[in-house]
Amino acid sequence: MDWAQPVGQVLLSPPHLTGGEMAALEGALASGWVAPAGPVPTAFEAALSVATGFGQVLATASGTAALHLGYRCLGVSPGDEVWTSALTFIATVAPAVQMGATPRFLDVEPGSWTLDPDLLERELARAGRAGRLPRAVVPVDLFGQPCDLDAIVALCDRWGVPVMCDSAGALGATHRGGRHAGRGARLAAFSFNGNKIVTAGGGGALASDEPKLVAQARSLAQAAREPGAHYQHETTGHAYGMSSLLAAVGLAQLGALPARVAARRAVFARYRAALGGLPGLLLMPEAPWGRSSRWLSAVLLDPADGAPERDALRRHLAAAGIESRPVWKPLHLQPVFRDAPRAGGAVAASLFERGLCLPSGSGMAPPEQDRVIAAMRALWPPAAA
Ligand SMILES: *Cc1c(COP(=O)(O)O)cnc(C)c1O
Repeated sequence: MDWAQPVGQVLLSPPHLTGGEMAALEGALASGWVAPAGPVPTAFEAALSVATGFGQVLATASGTAALHLGYRCLGVSPGDEVWTSALTFIATVAPAVQMGATPRFLDVEPGSWTLDPDLLERELARAGRAGRLPRAVVPVDLFGQPCDLDAIVALCDRWGVPVMCDSAGALGATHRGGRHAGRGARLAAFSFNGNKIVTAGGGGALASDEPKLVAQARSLAQAAREPGAHYQHETTGHAYGMSSLLAAVGLAQLGALPARVAARRAVFARYRAALGGLPGLLLMPEAPWGRSSRWLSAVLLDPADGAPERDALRRHLAAAGIESRPVWKPLHLQPVFRDAPRAGGAVAASLFERGLCLPSGSGMAPPEQDRVIAAMRALWPPAAA
């Protein structure tokens, strides 16, 4: 069968294969290990543990599944609140909502586009006085940029609130000193879906430095079966393990992670060099406390300062065969969450109105990126560009 890809398109963040995936897949198939258990997912977990420094890793069917297992481990129950950044993908909170929790959306801060610790501090104090602390705080590492996790964990520790970091888009990103994104939280979730910095063809991982938490998640991921020959259950679980076939692909990909981070950062650097001086255009800042993987290169467009409208630029790029996408539409602006409690949200809303993610793939050749850059510059007056 032939599943040819469209030619001539520059995509937002397509999979970047290493060439080693086929041999890895064949090896798994030839061994007969194909199920979501056995030595291949175990090897993938070990490799991810080395890549991230997390002591404990569970490979899962998706990043969303990893988050769901994390919420189960943290004991999220109907009526609980779960707090997260307003500027994220819905999967950050969807599992908690499905478990009966109420999400509360906290604004981001403009220097990093990630959860605002000052706002979190005020909200925790308010909720603490009212005796309504959240079951969990779930900050997000946005587009590969680590959130200010040390500050967030320190604040939550004061109130005894656990932190799970949604690091789904931040594999390969680090905090100052080299600690991997997500480390320092009780749990961190990663994703290996097709548009992430490395992919397994789908899949995710839940990571922690607490063996008990990951053991619990592992049991829940496999139908919550108690030890023993017969099927014995004290709770209900899920079928959330990562297939051996995906784990084999993921293993081949993980080896390339440092090169992928370098390539994504180089893509961002080329955008900065070529577009940085355009009136009304700002590139996503890099927070001082970490090193972004630059999973997605994002820019802000301010028409009042001479930039085109975000959507005019997006449509212009699409007509030239170039895919781009608005920054996440904040969750507090989503119809499904119209009644959800929130704290602030104006910063996230403004980033959404002005923000565009540009083609960011690590496999994008410089001439392709030059096409993107030229198409963008064409929308500025010649004097400016
Ligand atoms: C990709 C992503 C997820 C979900 O991961 P899946 O593997 O697609 O389920 C969750 N949160 C964020 C921030 C993501 O970027």
